[in-house]
Amino acid sequence: MKKRWIPETLFDDMGFRMTFAAERVLYETPTGHHHLILFEHQHFGKILMLDGATQVTTSDEFVYHEMMTHVPILAHGRAREILIVGGGDCGIAEEVLKHKSVARVTQVEIDASVVEFSKEHFPEFTGPVLSDPRFDLIIDDGIRYVARTDRRFDVIIVDSTDPQGPGKVLFTEEFYVGCKRCIAPGGVMVAQNGVPFFQQDELTVTLGRFRRLFADVSCYVAAIPTYVGGHMVISFTSDDAALQQVTVAMLADRYAAAGKFPTRYWTPEVHKAAFALPRFIAEKADAAKA
Ligand code: SAM
Repeated sequence: MKKRWIPETLFDDMGFRMTFAAERVLYETPTGHHHLILFEHQHFGKILMLDGATQVTTSDEFVYHEMMTHVPILAHGRAREILIVGGGDCGIAEEVLKHKSVARVTQVEIDASVVEFSKEHFPEFTGPVLSDPRFDLIIDDGIRYVARTDRRFDVIIVDSTDPQGPGKVLFTEEFYVGCKRCIAPGGVMVAQNGVPFFQQDELTVTLGRFRRLFADVSCYVAAIPTYVGGHMVISFTSDDAALQQVTVAMLADRYAAAGKFPTRYWTPEVHKAAFALPRFIAEKADAAKA
């Protein structure tokens, strides 16, 4: 049977498309917030796309989920209250809950159907998460939640879609002001900031907004095969510069104390190395003025 080729249309305006030959389309529907499609691929396994942008694949999810989670939590060292904004498929929450010291994880997701449908198609994430009493799911727009909650968080992880559709507000100053409002003293926030080789200004613009709100603003990189375009950059913002100065030895001790759960990408050495930015990315980060 002729395979359907499914394009990622995120970079259409740049005249570039990554396209997948689908073995089987498992699910395709408009959700009220996104166009959602899930299909099987011979190499990448299950692939979830929202509005023409790859969100998660079973083959390379470990890179992004581990780096968005273990870097802020082990840099902090005493994180108990965690907020995830977005995170629909629950891949981030699954990694967070590996830290036994974490007391509560609150996930604020705008699109309930992404979680619902992940129960059936990503049980490796939703299974351990939805059965963990430390996990709270709130269906709401992240920008409204951070503006209103009276809770305070040691770590905020923004696992959002790209700055299009409902995800657009999660790259605004208003949203970051809301995050600053609900971060606990000594807390740290990380957010996916796209692939700088393609998403040219995204990093400079968002770091500039963070620099108006936080004392210590930097970023680190990870290479996710299906987030095409080379390094993905993740912003790392706090008011405590010491969080960035943790040593490999301190990270190794904290990882051991956290039970040394298995990882496939994150190591204490990779953690430190990820903050050594290639010059073209460092220049974009330095260009971000408050
Ligand atoms: N890792 C993926 C990436 O980097 O593109 C993101 C994965 S996760 C599926 C993204 C989630 O963000 C989606 O489930 C989407 O519904 C959610 N989302 C988008 N805009 C949102 C908003 N304004 N508030 C809360 N969640 C939002």
